[in-house]
Amino acid sequence: MAYDFDLYVIGAGSGGVRAARFAAGFGAKVAVAESRYLGGTCVNVGCVPKKLLVYGAHFAEDFEQAGGFGWSLDEAQFDWPTLIANKDREINRLNGIYRNLLVNSGVTLHEGHAKIVDPHQVEINGERFTAKNILIATGGWPQIPEIPGHEHAISSNQAFFLKTLPKRVLVVGGGYIAVEFAGIFHGLGAETTLLYRGELFLRGFDTSVRKHLQEELTKRGMDLQFNADIERIDKQADGSLKVTLKDGRQLEADCVFYATGRRPMLDNLGLENTGVKLDRKGFVEVDEQYQTAEPSILALGDVIGRVQLTPVALAEGMAVARRLFKPEQYRPVDYKMIPTAVFSLPNIGTVGLTEEEAREAGHEVQIFESRFRPMKLTLTECQERTLMKLVVDAKTDKVLGCHMVGPDAGEIVQGLAIALKAGATKRHFDETIGVHPTAAEEFVTMRSPVAG
Ligand code: FAD
Ligand code: NDP
Repeated sequence: MAYDFDLYVIGAGSGGVRAARFAAGFGAKVAVAESRYLGGTCVNVGCVPKKLLVYGAHFAEDFEQAGGFGWSLDEAQFDWPTLIANKDREINRLNGIYRNLLVNSGVTLHEGHAKIVDPHQVEINGERFTAKNILIATGGWPQIPEIPGHEHAISSNQAFFLKTLPKRVLVVGGGYIAVEFAGIFHGLGAETTLLYRGELFLRGFDTSVRKHLQEELTKRGMDLQFNADIERIDKQADGSLKVTLKDGRQLEADCVFYATGRRPMLDNLGLENTGVKLDRKGFVEVDEQYQTAEPSILALGDVIGRVQLTPVALAEGMAVARRLFKPEQYRPVDYKMIPTAVFSLPNIGTVGLTEEEAREAGHEVQIFESRFRPMKLTLTECQERTLMKLVVDAKTDKVLGCHMVGPDAGEIVQGLAIALKAGATKRHFDETIGVHPTAAEEFVTMRSPVAG
């Protein structure tokens, strides 16, 4: 049978665009459907605008520290609408770039909501198109627990477009988004409380990293409330929000921001017209090659719920394009040693195993840890400390994990990730000459283990 397209991609986010462009480059006839915004979550309500807001928040400490270097500034003023308008302009520019990337690579762009009507057919804007393969790349959506008054809360989707900076913000959750946005609000001057239901936020990260960030955020005056969970939210006559916790305590805020994870975006996608199966968490189930239970349908990115990071969606998109249209170049995505950063203030950068994971996996470990006051702060009053940690296999000398909390941690860890991927040993680290004076050189000068 002749199909309209070789590949019909639903979702022009990180993974969908990558798969579509490369498939078209390999000579396939490709269409992409997008219902909201070109570039998807990362470009519009994720990585990019988030990082711009983090940069914005960082100026608060830059101004504070400038005094130590002889600068005097009149009282700094911050204007939220200016930051948001400038951010929106940049995102618009990126949307245009995504449009050009798609069109210039020969991909047909359909703007509207796509629904799968059978395993080889998609309906969009009242028209139907057939395709040999359909790729579900529809991403995720914020998930807010349905407690009484949840409609008064916002998620990251709305936070990027608030008209004014709230005076008092309550951030709920203890993952990436909660920690990053708490830093943004706090840095920009809002009275910020971070509320997390467990003992310590950032579950899954190295315990030293989690504790270090807790100390640093507390030093900066952020109110951290752990073992705290919201029972209800009530809007008061003056528009403010009264938040009642499960332990009976009450807090007041002008904005309650939930960052409690993301669900797969499958709304009105027509999966009932296919044999696609979901896993027990509701994400689309795929095999090693992104094949769903329906032979003509594939899925990747956040909607499969593996690792919800843009570079991972990009790698999966590339793998799918190659698998379908350039099989001789196909290489499976390697999910080991994925570096990641949390753009909290200060940043976290991490790659490889945490100390806990290494021990659980049966490694006999040596731990190297360094905590120090960054040189840039020595002329200032700021008492922030940086943490660097190496987890090493005592038997093989292999470095199993690198972890950092401090300025530019994400930038530093990217390079270390290549070393770990290449199987670097602690001896390789020791024999590497440092770049002086930098914070990063500390990673190659840690000599004595702190724990065995
Ligand atoms: P998406 O980028 O979400 O794209 C899916 C697209 O599909 C969307 O554009 C959507 O509109 C469209 N769509 C959905 N249903 C349909 C339909 N039926 N028809 C047509 N179109 C449809 N990752 C990082 O690596 N670094 C970061 O710093 C980072 N920061 C983040 C900050 C926030 C606040 C958030 C929310 C996420 C962040 N992420 C970050 C995660 C990253 O954004 C995602 O992992 C990535 O965007 C996933 O890409 P995707 O292609 O799977 O889906
Ligand atoms: P995460 O899964 O990272 O964190 C969710 C947090 O919410 C956890 O602390 C979790 O607690 C808590 N939580 C979950 N359900 C509830 C509930 N019902 N009540 C109270 N708390 C709850 O999700 P995020 O929303 O922060 O981010 C989604 C994903 O997006 C991230 O996992 C990451 O992959 C990606 N992302 C990446 C970024 C980056 O690379 N810098 C930045 C932002 C997002 P518990 O730990 O107890 O389960």
